[in-house]
Amino acid sequence: MSYISDIDPEIANALELEANRQDYKLNLIASENYTSRAVMEAQGCIMTNKYAEGYSGKRYYGGCEFVDIAETLAIERAKEIFNAEHVNVQPHSGSGANMAVYFSVLKPGDKIMSMDLSHGGHLSHGSPVSFSGQLYNIVPYGVSKENEMLDYDALMEMAKEEKPQMIVVGASAYSRTIDFKRFREIADAVGAYLLADVAHIAGLIAAGVHPNPFPHADFVTTTTHKTLRGPRGGMVMCKEEYAKGVDKAVFPGIQGGPLMHIIAAKAVAFKEAQSEAFKKDQEQTIKNAKALCAALQERGFDIVSEGTDNHLMLLNLNKYDITGKDAEVVMSKAGIVINKNTIPFETRGPFITSGLRAGTPASTTRGMKEPEMVEIADFFETILNNKDDDKVLEAVNADAQELCSRFPIYEHLK
Ligand code: PLP
Repeated sequence: MSYISDIDPEIANALELEANRQDYKLNLIASENYTSRAVMEAQGCIMTNKYAEGYSGKRYYGGCEFVDIAETLAIERAKEIFNAEHVNVQPHSGSGANMAVYFSVLKPGDKIMSMDLSHGGHLSHGSPVSFSGQLYNIVPYGVSKENEMLDYDALMEMAKEEKPQMIVVGASAYSRTIDFKRFREIADAVGAYLLADVAHIAGLIAAGVHPNPFPHADFVTTTTHKTLRGPRGGMVMCKEEYAKGVDKAVFPGIQGGPLMHIIAAKAVAFKEAQSEAFKKDQEQTIKNAKALCAALQERGFDIVSEGTDNHLMLLNLNKYDITGKDAEVVMSKAGIVINKNTIPFETRGPFITSGLRAGTPASTTRGMKEPEMVEIADFFETILNNKDDDKVLEAVNADAQELCSRFPIYEHLK
C-alpha cells in the first residue's frame, strides 16, 4: 500500500475504506469470498507486464517461457481437481467462459434450454438483456411449484418437446444438490450438449462435498472467485473432443491477451483448493448454511424449498411486508451485507424482488461456525421485526461489528 499512498492518495484512501468495510461488515453475499494473501500476491505480480496471446508453447509473443509455467500449472491442477480432460484458464469472467462454450458448438438461433433467471439461473444463460438471450433461442425451465426444486421428469418432458441443441444446468440462486447424471440422461434423450455452469459450487465440488459434473457434462464452466476462493476470473473445462473448439473460441474468438498474473493466481488458488484446510472449510460452509437455515426457520422465516444442501439459501420475505430491495437496505444499516433476489414464481421485478439470498462462504473463511450462525439468525429476526427503528438497527450494527472483530479475516485464512 505504501507505493499507492505515495502516488495516488485518493485510491489509497478508497482501499483503506474498503479494507475497513471488509473487516467489520458481516458478508453474507453467496457469490463472494476472501482470497488468501498468496492469491492476492500473485494477482499483483509482475506477470501483469506480459503479453502472451496463444497457449503454452504456441504463443504469438516471445519471452513467454515463464508465464507458460504458470498457465501449465493452473491447467494441470484444475484437471486434477475436477477430473477434467481439457481446461482453458484464460476466460476473464464466468460470462466469458459461457460465451466461449456457446460459440464453440452453437450457431446463432440455436435452441438452449436453461434455468430462468427468476428461478435462480444466471444472466449469461439466456436473459434477454444478455448476449446469450439475444443470440440464441432460449427455452427457460424453472423449479417445481410444489417443492421449489428441480423436477427431473418435467425437464425430460420439456426437452423432448423442445429438442434444444444445448441444455445448461447451474445457477446463481439454487440451494439444492444438482443431479448431473439425470441431466445427462435428459440431454442424451434429445441429442443435446450438456453444459454445467458450476460457478457457485466449484469450491464444494473441488472438496468433494457436492457431486462433480464430470463425466456427465460435455462442458463445465466456472468462475474462480466464489466458493473456489481464487482470483476474480473464469474457466472452461470440457471433454477432449471439444478442446480445440473451446480454445479457438476463447482466443482469438472472444479475447486477446490472457491476464497472466490472474492465471498465476488461479494456479495458486487451485493448489490451495487441494489442501486439507480448504476441504474442511468447504465442509464447514455447508454445515454453516444448514445451521443458519435451521435457525432462521426456527425464528419463523420462510426458506425457498424449505432448506439447503449447499452454501446458500433464499429467504421468501412475503410475510414480512418488505421487499427484497428494502430488506437489503435495512440489513446494510445493521452491518450485514446481503443481496436482494428474486424468488421462484416472483411477482415483483428483478430490481425490487421478494427475497434475500444468504450465503456462508465468506463468514466460513473467517472461521465462523454453527454458534455464530445462530447469532446471525438472531440479527435477522431483530432487524426485520424492527426495520423502522434506527436505534435497534444501530445496536445490531454494533453487535455485527463485534462478531466480525472476533473473526479477523486473515487469522483463519493464511
Ligand atoms: N454463472 C453463474 C452461475 C454465476 O452465478 C455467475 C456470477 O454471478 C456467472 C456465471 C458470471 O460470472 P462473472 O460475473 O464473472 O461474469
